[in-house]
Amino acid sequence: MKSSYILVISLFLACLVACNNDSTVDMETQTHSRNNSPFLEHKGAYMPEKVIKTDEEWRQLLTPQQHVITRRRGTERPFTGKYFNFRGKGIYQCVCCANDLFSSETKYDSGTGWPSFWAPISEQNIKTAEDSSGFKKKTEVLCNRCDAHLGHVFNDGPPPTGLRYCINSVALQFIEKK
Ligand SMILES: [Zn+2]
Repeated sequence: MKSSYILVISLFLACLVACNNDSTVDMETQTHSRNNSPFLEHKGAYMPEKVIKTDEEWRQLLTPQQHVITRRRGTERPFTGKYFNFRGKGIYQCVCCANDLFSSETKYDSGTGWPSFWAPISEQNIKTAEDSSGFKKKTEVLCNRCDAHLGHVFNDGPPPTGLRYCINSVALQFIEKK
């Protein structure tokens, strides 16, 4: 009687372990296929969809400087980028995925040496994250479509928002308004 009870318990435990193993494998398979699915890659061509690429794919698409800044959270040296002193009328897009990010209408000269904007084109096109990598806590700004690092946002901007989106020129591509 006692041994059959132990047998039942053992079988139950074995089943439990097997089930857990199965679900782990499933999750790994899903993650793997999500990163490599040609279907999702294709869907990324439409603006509202997320763009998900491997680091190697980004490396092939971008210049080394674009790759370091947008995919490795780099920062260009101030007063060196092509847009900090640029006054064209148009739209600044994400250099990685062509998501519309900022308009020339909210661009201003912050004197910092980086292109600065007091608002994004839409709150939905960007996202923010806490950046505690330096001495001071900062708020990182990312492209909401492809997760490219764009720069940081500070609370010392002009009216009406009081915000300063401090963005790397390298992370942007300018499209002139016709
Ligand atoms: Zn992007």
